[in-house]
Amino acid sequence: MTITAKYASKCPHCGQTIQPGEQVEWTRGTPAAHTRCPAAAPVAAPARRPGLVSAAEVIARRKAMVRRRRGGGSFLDDGDWEY
Ligand SMILES: [Zn+2]
Repeated sequence: MTITAKYASKCPHCGQTIQPGEQVEWTRGTPAAHTRCPAAAPVAAPARRPGLVSAAEVIARRKAMVRRRRGGGSFLDDGDWEY
């Protein structure tokens, strides 16, 4: 169950100090542990392979490119630039 720590203690998972007032996961007879313990957190998603770009990302990149062109105003040599 989740309780508010009343005493300072040490998290059995990560070894970090638990301060009084922190939310901890505790079961009678076991030491209190962080409710969101960094040691118990799921492993971060593996890095995406380079070159593998999602469709949403392509659209976002295109929008960013357009924004740069509109905002900059320095693309005077660009044929389709009209303002
Ligand atoms: Zn912990």
